[in-house]
Amino acid sequence: MLSVIRKLSWFFRQEWRRYTVAVVLLVISGVLEIIPPMLVGRSIDTIHIGGMDWNVIVLTLTQLLTITAAAYIINFAWHYKLFGGAFVVERLMRSRLMRHFLRMRPSFYERNRTGDLMALATNDLQAVSQTAGFGILTFMDSTLWMMTLLVTMTVFVSWKLTLAAILPLPAMAILVSVYGKWIHKRFMAAQDAFGSMNDGVLETISGIRVIRAYVQERAAESRFAAVTKDVLDKNIAVVKIDALFEPTMKILTGASYLIGLGYGAYLVYHNELTIGGLVAFNVYLGMLIWPMFAIGELINIMQRGNASLDRVSGTLDWKPDVEEPEEEKQARVPDRPGAIEFRDVTFRYPSSSVDNLRDVSLVLQPGQTLGIAGRTGSGKTTLMKQLLREYPPAQGTVAISGAPIETIDMDLLKSWYGYVPQEQFLFSRTVRANILFGTRRGESTEEELQNAIAASALAGDMAFLPKGLETTVGERGVSLSGGQKQRVSIARALIADPDILMLDDALSAVDARTEAEIVNNIRTTRAGKTTLIATHRLSAIQEADWIVVLDDGAIAEQGTHEQLMERGGWYKEQYERQQVDAKRSEGGDA
Ligand code: ADP
Repeated sequence: MLSVIRKLSWFFRQEWRRYTVAVVLLVISGVLEIIPPMLVGRSIDTIHIGGMDWNVIVLTLTQLLTITAAAYIINFAWHYKLFGGAFVVERLMRSRLMRHFLRMRPSFYERNRTGDLMALATNDLQAVSQTAGFGILTFMDSTLWMMTLLVTMTVFVSWKLTLAAILPLPAMAILVSVYGKWIHKRFMAAQDAFGSMNDGVLETISGIRVIRAYVQERAAESRFAAVTKDVLDKNIAVVKIDALFEPTMKILTGASYLIGLGYGAYLVYHNELTIGGLVAFNVYLGMLIWPMFAIGELINIMQRGNASLDRVSGTLDWKPDVEEPEEEKQARVPDRPGAIEFRDVTFRYPSSSVDNLRDVSLVLQPGQTLGIAGRTGSGKTTLMKQLLREYPPAQGTVAISGAPIETIDMDLLKSWYGYVPQEQFLFSRTVRANILFGTRRGESTEEELQNAIAASALAGDMAFLPKGLETTVGERGVSLSGGQKQRVSIARALIADPDILMLDDALSAVDARTEAEIVNNIRTTRAGKTTLIATHRLSAIQEADWIVVLDDGAIAEQGTHEQLMERGGWYKEQYERQQVDAKRSEGGDA
């Protein structure tokens, strides 16, 4: 149970000053609390023998007042130190978790639900933080403070009475540990349910448009009601055990009082104890309730903290399945990328049961443009993603400048790319900030920004936005159209002027004419740089140096536009159909 303290020892070592001060002050405050009952007991005895006079009263009151004042300051100080520590560890762990999330690759996010990860960063870290604050307090109170009280009662009042009064204690210890085990199990279940609920909220909010469009509000509501019911049930199960704690403690402390008073009166009657001693004893017994209770709380908090810490560490221990090449094994490659080569590449997603790329081979010289065509699901994205190194290496070789990409320094590799994914993501910031997000080496000049905007055919749209480039987009701003979003994403990729640009169906939502304009801009502004374009609209790649047509993960046709037209396969058929469609819609426009 206390293993959580050991697991957090790195933190306590790091913050040892804070915790030393807190613990020392806690001890002093404990000693200060011991004194008043003693003074009261002594006063009662003095009154009893008729020795009380004005001087003694003033002296006693002054002592009590001084102790109260000192306790006020000391209690403030340890509280401040101890509970401050709780927030420090929470922040440390949260930053660590975030750093980890940023390092993780898609397979991590495919296997961990967003809601669970959010629960880790909130609920679980709070439980850990409680261990470092309240947990330490209960630990101190149920050990050192309890010992202090017991020793005081034994030495200054009566060892016989103390022994008798604490008889119910072992029973308490046993019950508390049994309860603790139950709580642990139930609490884990409750946390899991909380993660699922988080996931439900997230999915509902991000999918709200679809839910509304399909009039699924009621269904979503009842599904969510079932989830919240599950969370409720599991938390109630925890509370049930939690609720057992207090009555159990009350009964056992009640028994202690009973013994204390009954046997104490007997001892007074037999002159083994003074009345003042009995009064002080009863006050101490009252003070003993909290430390006994603290045992329960301690077990509770430590169990929760332990469970949560294990969940957090389990996630933190997740090794990225794409490793940075070791320093010695790194290939020496020129700063600028050379030819891209795929040699017999066969790849399967970790969660897939069939090969998603089969025996793909191709060579792309620097400065060339590659067009990737094929029906949906044929592997266009998968082919492009091989360059991004998001998944464990494929069979065969993917090489740049002659070096397998697994041996190229990851930062260098990433610095070459500009990638525009199928589903673009815009941050809820201004359009300008979203585009500038693409700049790696410091700030871009206004000119570069304007060039990127012009190349992605965004200039016209800016005039229609309420504040132009300074318009906030996304969740709390103006919604852009699908085509505008795509073009902002393209501008974001273009502004860094990457050596290798990858457009993954990135123009699907813009009309054919705008697409032609953008493709043309890219061709002229990116002379000498490599470009990969995956698309459904074949007109976008007809000028490409090389075109591959994928079918079920394998290259079905390849060549230049002319060669493919001559070949008369899927490409030709698609191209001609698209030309006819385009003419028809143009005719319709006119
Ligand atoms: P395209 O881009 O041509 O539409 P993709 O490359 O996205 O096709 O997908 C190729 C195949 O790989 C599809 O059958 C798809 O279901 C599968 N696939 C894509 N992404 C994953 C993934 N992360 N895990 C498992 N299978 C995937």
